[in-house]
Amino acid sequence: MTAERTGTRHGSLMVVADKQGAMLEVSLHTLTTSILILAAATVLLNPVPAMFAQTPERQVAVTIDDLPAAGAKSMTAVAIKEMTAKLLTTLRDQQVPAIGFVNERKLYQFGEVDERINALRLWLDFGFELGNHTFAHSSLNRVGLQAWEDDVIQGENVTRLLLAERNMRLRYFRHPFLDTGRDLETRRHAEAFLVARGYRVAPVTLDAWDWMYAGVYEDAKKRGDNALQQQLVSSYLSYSDAVFGFAEDLSRRVLGYEPRQVLLLHANQLEADHVAKLLDLMRKRGYRFITLDNALSDQAYSLPDTFVAEEGSDWLEHWAITQGKPPQGAPVFPQWVIERSKAVRQTQP
Ligand SMILES: [Zn+2]
Repeated sequence: MTAERTGTRHGSLMVVADKQGAMLEVSLHTLTTSILILAAATVLLNPVPAMFAQTPERQVAVTIDDLPAAGAKSMTAVAIKEMTAKLLTTLRDQQVPAIGFVNERKLYQFGEVDERINALRLWLDFGFELGNHTFAHSSLNRVGLQAWEDDVIQGENVTRLLLAERNMRLRYFRHPFLDTGRDLETRRHAEAFLVARGYRVAPVTLDAWDWMYAGVYEDAKKRGDNALQQQLVSSYLSYSDAVFGFAEDLSRRVLGYEPRQVLLLHANQLEADHVAKLLDLMRKRGYRFITLDNALSDQAYSLPDTFVAEEGSDWLEHWAITQGKPPQGAPVFPQWVIERSKAVRQTQP
């Protein structure tokens, strides 16, 4: 559904209702005929009231990577569980379906394995789904096909058992770094391997690099720097808004319509603390939140896709490049956040 179609539909109804009062004298048959003619004429003339044109219907599935936590290495199991519960409470209370993608290597911290597994189990307790993101977050573009396939298989053990407790099946896979292969032969081989193991690939169409903000945010929070935290949240939201606008335009240019989008977030403190603001921002843009299953029923996800590159990318770029139309003018990620992020990584042990 596009903005224009929605506006037209509501516009027709309004005009018909206005005219009805003036037609009370005429017979029911004439009235019905008049309304039908009027409605048809209204559709042809296509008057779109601005108030409706500004509220397009959009749909998006929320996906969250790097479970149980992107920063699991430097967190205690208690902290991971608190962060997870906070994030999931917001999503559940706002009735936002979500799926989390797991790196099982992050579970194996001495003395904490059970509690870290319980943090994952929370996702299912709250009614969400889990998928595989490989054991060790290996890039298909870096480690080679055989090692990558081994990493996919090793990433299944705990997640599959947790899902089985709820009679659920492990059915989605998300490529680490969105790296889908440097050449088409590798890409297709990996895809066939995933299908053979019962997976559907979880694509991404909206990605505002929350992970880059999150590292700086977590450091600022530890140091009690409230001003920086606020600056980061505000920058994250405005960059996200710009990314969504760009993706919506690109969708219309490449596909001729806006597909059901798939948003990429990460399991981090920034999202746990502020995801409600991001959800508000998306609702203002007209988004309704749907399951990944529902999103992938959009025909866009069956379009030709021959994208290969050294660096992974989102699926709108896949389709644009497949059509020979590389996207131009994407919003620029704020340089100051990149600098801060580098500085934080250098000072970490
Ligand atoms: Zn990841």
